[in-house]
Amino acid sequence: MRVIRSVRDLRRTLGRDRDEGRTIGFVPTMGALHPGHLSLLAAARRDNDVVVLSVFVNPMQFGPSEDFAAYPRDEAGDLAAAQAAGVDVVFLPATEEMYPHDGGAVVHVGRLGTILEGASRPGHFDGVATVVAKLMNMVSPDRLYLGQKDAQQVAVVKAMIEDLSFGVDVVVCPTVREPDGLALSSRNAYLSDGERQRAAALWRALQSGRRAAESGGAPDVVEKAMKTVVEEEGVVLDYARVVDPVSFASPSGSGPLLLLIAARVGPTRLIDNLLISR
Ligand code: AMP
Repeated sequence: MRVIRSVRDLRRTLGRDRDEGRTIGFVPTMGALHPGHLSLLAAARRDNDVVVLSVFVNPMQFGPSEDFAAYPRDEAGDLAAAQAAGVDVVFLPATEEMYPHDGGAVVHVGRLGTILEGASRPGHFDGVATVVAKLMNMVSPDRLYLGQKDAQQVAVVKAMIEDLSFGVDVVVCPTVREPDGLALSSRNAYLSDGERQRAAALWRALQSGRRAAESGGAPDVVEKAMKTVVEEEGVVLDYARVVDPVSFASPSGSGPLLLLIAARVGPTRLIDNLLISR
């Protein structure tokens, strides 16, 4: 496994792989790797000759009052997990390597970046789109692996890939969960024992929303069903919404539905979602 910290070395190494006809699968992360991340690496390993993992806690996608400084970092643990997952190249850039100019060019996301997560976290998706665009220019992957856990991120990145004409295939992997349904997240490390118990309310809310949707409930009924469950647990709801999974607009009468939830458990903000085919 090659551990690389500079863009120059990364290009040189992957250029050789590409010249020799090897396909490249790319998994971008912010580290503190857990089995959710490992499922993306396993999918990339299955599909490609070369697997590239990036670990970069991207300051641009955190708001000024968010948890950038406190975000979990575990370089040694991540390298051991990457090795065990059969990763070929780990890219671990410093912030100055990724953002050489203050006030330089960025990617701006339109409507999709300003609703839901984008409304609660202004600028977040510009940060995500910018770092993913930069990483794709550095790695030039054949395939990009993303988790369904971050459903709006998937929609934003897929749209950006089309809008900015990146020739990259996106592979979306299902959300990996704890036995009680809590979606794995690096931020779960912030939860106290009591908060950890209450955090499963997000998944129970999604299940309740699914039952309401499957028995023909209108979006407002489904949203109410989700809201009731989280509020019973003393978890503070940010939003519970039903949308069209591609446009993130209000759903039409037929086709799949995406149930989205964001809530605060103590000081920790968690998100989850559930795709329902109709
Ligand atoms: P992050 O390190 O949080 O930026 O996540 C890196 C990638 O892992 C993103 O594509 C996430 O959607 C994905 N991911 C995070 N948690 C999970 C999970 N529980 N199941 C599947 N994928 C996940």
